[in-house]
Amino acid sequence: MPRKTINRQVKEPPLFDIFKPRGVAVQKNEFIIMNLDEFEAIRLADYLGLDHKESSLEMEISRSTFSRLITRARKKLARLIIEGKQLKIDGGQVHFRQNIYECHSCGHKFKMSIQEEVKTCPSCGSRNLFDLAGGFGHGRCCSNHSQHRGKGRGRGKRS
Ligand SMILES: [Zn+2]
Ligand SMILES: [Zn+2]
Repeated sequence: MPRKTINRQVKEPPLFDIFKPRGVAVQKNEFIIMNLDEFEAIRLADYLGLDHKESSLEMEISRSTFSRLITRARKKLARLIIEGKQLKIDGGQVHFRQNIYECHSCGHKFKMSIQEEVKTCPSCGSRNLFDLAGGFGHGRCCSNHSQHRGKGRGRGKRS
């Protein structure tokens, strides 16, 4: 039975989601939006140096889908540096495998499996934690997805 789900697996949320060129007054509508799946494609192929086959397996998509994805992502990075646009990483039909938390009290950053919900900083005990996957609208959906891998249908695109 062919898989219906179109969600792509992204290892973890990006640590940075907005990039802007120095000294350019940029309007809100001048953002280039890089989807989370495009970010992951850049991370796998260009940052880690995996080939397209390995990268596509990581993301659980076909190799040809991966090739289209990385081409689109590189085009956005090229526009960013040539045209001096702002870049925002957001959206895309993805789920995360693990989460990153950042403590706003002590600055400690730590990674957890996406299934675990953490309320206090393991370093200082503060409850002032920022949940990065949550910031992208993810969390429970990702752990449901990983428990029913291959059975669930892709959820609609987040607006
Ligand atoms: Zn802390
Ligand atoms: Zn999710």
